[in-house]
Amino acid sequence: MIKTIGVIGSGQMGNGIAHVAAINDFNVKIIDIDEKQLQNALATIEKNLCRQIQKGLLTETKKNSAINLINPCKDVNELNDCDIVIEAAAEDEDLKKSIFNSLHGILKPEAILCTNTSSISVTRLAASTDRPGQFMGMHFMNPVPVMELVELVRGIATEVETYEAVRDLTIQLGKTPAMAEDFPAFIVNRILLPMINEAIYALYEGVGTVEAIDTAMKLGAHHPMGPLQLADFIGLDTCHSIMQVLYEGLADSKYRPCPLLAKYVEAGWLGRKTGKGFYDYSGERPIPTR
Ligand code: NAD
Repeated sequence: MIKTIGVIGSGQMGNGIAHVAAINDFNVKIIDIDEKQLQNALATIEKNLCRQIQKGLLTETKKNSAINLINPCKDVNELNDCDIVIEAAAEDEDLKKSIFNSLHGILKPEAILCTNTSSISVTRLAASTDRPGQFMGMHFMNPVPVMELVELVRGIATEVETYEAVRDLTIQLGKTPAMAEDFPAFIVNRILLPMINEAIYALYEGVGTVEAIDTAMKLGAHHPMGPLQLADFIGLDTCHSIMQVLYEGLADSKYRPCPLLAKYVEAGWLGRKTGKGFYDYSGERPIPTR
């Protein structure tokens, strides 16, 4: 029975996972290497809970009980009573491996360990843990409190019992699981990112302007956001690194990151988070940059 969930990393994904776990009555222990980030994460969770109250999705009592269930922790030793630990630190393989290394001998022997990686091989990460059979990918979508899906990714060594426990937990968190095999970028990003990359090629080749491409896909394919708008939301550095993982991992030229995407990243135009990407966000409304 899973009662206590550990979350490592309190960035946009980690705080969302803690939020969703707490409103579903799990005890949460959350850690971050950066104390300030952890304090910001607690404030973000509270703000997002209040937003859910305003939308009529949550009661004040539920918000208060969720906040009480979230315990910020100073170091990994405090994760010793967790039934499952979900790692949501930055997308860096060496960093993730060093975190798993630091958990050796700390977690309960029966505890499950998961990673929220978007693109790194689950099998390779599993091999660096003390429990490859009790390890798998639990890939939440951003923003976690809003998005319904969790991709579940089994490594080659993941045991059936581990998969079943994580699948049941996903459902208890109010999410829908989709099983993906451990191939680069799994399902959602394998399909979504080449579509975004193709939109950038269309811009690069002059097929359409930023505005024309986004309007075409919003009105012509009923996408809620245009692909270039979506790229800015995800972050152009993230888009580029996922295309690179697909290109290298599948060794197929159809995944070649568009040179224009690489240029934007080189310029530091990473989308919304830097104020400029395919759109400029400095004014009242976004203005296309091409
Ligand atoms: P982020 O940069 O917002 O947060 C990462 C956090 O990890 C930071 O707060 C950082 O201080 C912390 N951290 C770094 N080293 C640590 C350590 N040793 N111990 C504890 N904490 C540490 O990143 P994010 O967007 O939340 O992404 C986290 C993970 O989730 C990545 O693997 C990413 O690929 C994946 N992911 C991201 C998205 C997305 O849209 N952002 C979607 C799905 C999955």
